[in-house]
Amino acid sequence: MSEKTAVSPTRQEDFPEWYQQVIRAADLAENSEVRGCMVIKPWGYALWERMQAVLDGMFKATGHRNAYFPLFIPLSYLEKEAAHVEGFAKECAVVTHHRLEAKDGKLVPSGQLSEPLIVRPTSETIIGAAYARWVKSWRDLPILLNQWANVVRWEMRPRLFLRTAEFLWQEGHTAHETSEEAVTETMKMLRVYETFARDYLAIPVITGEKSESERFPGAVQTYCIEAMVQDRKAIQAGTSHFLGQNFSKASGIQFQSRSGAVEHAWTTSWGVSTRLIGTLIMAHGDDDGLILPPRVAPAHVVIIPITPKEDTRAAVLEAADNLAAQLREISYHGVPVQVEIDSRDLGGGVKNWEWIKKGIPIRIEIGPRDLAQGTVALSRRDRPHKEKAFLPNGDVLSGVTGILDEIQAELLARATAFRDENLKVIESKEDFYKFFTPANSDKPEIHGGFALAHWNGSAAVEEQIKNDLKVTIRCIPFTDSPEAGTCIFTGEPSKQRVVWAKSY
Ligand code: AMP
Repeated sequence: MSEKTAVSPTRQEDFPEWYQQVIRAADLAENSEVRGCMVIKPWGYALWERMQAVLDGMFKATGHRNAYFPLFIPLSYLEKEAAHVEGFAKECAVVTHHRLEAKDGKLVPSGQLSEPLIVRPTSETIIGAAYARWVKSWRDLPILLNQWANVVRWEMRPRLFLRTAEFLWQEGHTAHETSEEAVTETMKMLRVYETFARDYLAIPVITGEKSESERFPGAVQTYCIEAMVQDRKAIQAGTSHFLGQNFSKASGIQFQSRSGAVEHAWTTSWGVSTRLIGTLIMAHGDDDGLILPPRVAPAHVVIIPITPKEDTRAAVLEAADNLAAQLREISYHGVPVQVEIDSRDLGGGVKNWEWIKKGIPIRIEIGPRDLAQGTVALSRRDRPHKEKAFLPNGDVLSGVTGILDEIQAELLARATAFRDENLKVIESKEDFYKFFTPANSDKPEIHGGFALAHWNGSAAVEEQIKNDLKVTIRCIPFTDSPEAGTCIFTGEPSKQRVVWAKSY
């Protein structure tokens, strides 16, 4: 019989339900009474704050500054870019009134606005209007701004973190003198996302370009990072768009060029959202709950004082405080080691399990017997929960950053091995359909993974595959030496293999 797990069902039994249960067990967030919107609880929000802090530093190191633009976008702004409005029209929250009036004992909207306002689904158009005011000459370029904000997209099939109607994100918006400069910016920020995913989230992503059908509405090119999670599905974890002159023409971002001619600027936009939290849960979690990569964990260590007897209680708590104070003096990649002390009046077993479910990297137990010996019991979240190392205090202090680095490296190694095991080159249509058809119809989530297959570039083929298998092109991966071949669906020429998968 298998051992009882802290989260039920297990990943094998029901992955989507396991995901919901991990969010609950780790106390990250909950569905709110407003459909599609979530309440992010302190542990989940602290994780988002860590991600924000790191990303914000990376944006600033690449020359960007933060600014803030309005939540409301006049309808006429969205209308200016045809593809853009078409892409977002179906999921817009629209504000039409500006007050409430009592009528027959009920409050009803009144004071109709002369022009409806859209709650921003993304801010290209309203930021474009500001850039149009700010840019006069080539000397005013580039503009390199980022905004941390919430946005609203009326999603019909919401799922906590991965797809919510309101979500938190950052959106970078830049304007440039030349096309080349804007393309360089687009790629630079994609690399920032790739680096963040690998070095902080411990998730190896595939980078590439979206096919036309998956492109951001209004973009010339959309680049993305795609992660594989433990049910072998893909998650689009971040995007960077080269917008050409589409939005600068729509918004009128014009400047006098070095030669004196009036030209339109070249713009980009790039964003990642709270979806990264969902990606992290699905990439690393196990049947006991969340597993946090130390470099984004809101806390690195929890100290659990074990105080069975009243007469030793004060001494144990004091030892816990002392150890915490010493640990907090240590720097882990530029941030102080973050320590929680769980001195709640609860049994050690109960507290231990709570922290396992929350995914904290290191648990340290101190009890009366440890005091006499000057030792503690240390457990790592990446190892079986019963495994404990009995270490002298001094070894904990000298070893803590090394252990955190080991856990970080272990998570990346596991995720990379999993991704590589489930990424297959597929050479025929028949094998492709087999790859994506569940062997067991009771378990539709058990299917191939990522397929690398030749494609003729046709949207009709993509449409067919999507209808037949719910599989889409995740990206046309970057490669130094694209290998031409034959489309497995049509027999027509293909420039290179592309990545196909089911996705969230
Ligand atoms: P986009 O502006 O459409 O390129 O979106 C930027 C990023 O935001 C995407 O790559 C996703 O990671 C994320 N995202 C898009 N829609 C949602 C949503 N409904 N909930 C959470 N994150 C989202």
